Amino acid sequence: MPILSPKIPAHQELIKQVDYYLESKESSPLPPLGSGRMEFQLYKAALVMDMFLSRLEEVIEDTKSKAAERGIPVTCSKGCDVCCSQPISGSFFEGVLMELYLEANPPIKEQFLTKYDSWRSRIGDPQEYGQTLQSAIRALVNGSKDVSDYVRNAVDNFNQREKISCPFLEERSCSIYPVRPVACRQLLSIDDPIKCQTGEQARLLRAGDIDELTYRKLPLLLIHLGRSFGFPGIVNSVLPITTYELIKHGEKYVDMVIRDCDRISRR
Ligand code: SF4
Repeated sequence: MPILSPKIPAHQELIKQVDYYLESKESSPLPPLGSGRMEFQLYKAALVMDMFLSRLEEVIEDTKSKAAERGIPVTCSKGCDVCCSQPISGSFFEGVLMELYLEANPPIKEQFLTKYDSWRSRIGDPQEYGQTLQSAIRALVNGSKDVSDYVRNAVDNFNQREKISCPFLEERSCSIYPVRPVACRQLLSIDDPIKCQTGEQARLLRAGDIDELTYRKLPLLLIHLGRSFGFPGIVNSVLPITTYELIKHGEKYVDMVIRDCDRISRR
């Protein structure tokens, strides 16, 4: 049974609270959001994620306009799917939002489910991938300036060194574009698109506003949401797997994620 029902109405109070949170200059904690059925809690968390992504999109569009005015246009465009052959990872709540979107769009859900088994059988071990990324984060914390080798190795191993398209990619476009995760939004090339095609390192647009949202506010928001809803929001996972497991196993999968997080936090 899918865990989310698209028919649940928007929660206006939550919207106000999240707006307040995202507007705030301080990293003030999100107020407790009350309790309820797991389904409703997850729906609210997905709604928050959706609002965060809308805000991020506004900031990205603004940044792109300003960069174009300065003569450094972003060269990413529809039809370029180079980034879509990397394992997309992100927070549990992003996976929940993606699942909600699929439940509201049955043809897209069917496309995804049709491709999933083949995609899953070709990729590497998601746990190993996660551990390599953790090593990259630790290296950053310990002062490394460049962890691109870690990340490249993690991606190469996960994709078994071949180009494996994301199961949400349809005819070189993202089938879940409105809810695509942060990881798919934040890298903006300002280089010749040919470099992405040939695997060269493209120059990326760096913007303080985007970094502020993705590296500072998002982790805080995930921690606060995790506490408010009782779910491990901060957990990082390969998102097509999270989405699939939510569709197929619903609450059982959520229970398993919560247990795993408890076990890891007690170590
Ligand atoms: S979710 Fe969409 S944008 Fe992200 S990798 Fe998959 S197809 Fe590409």
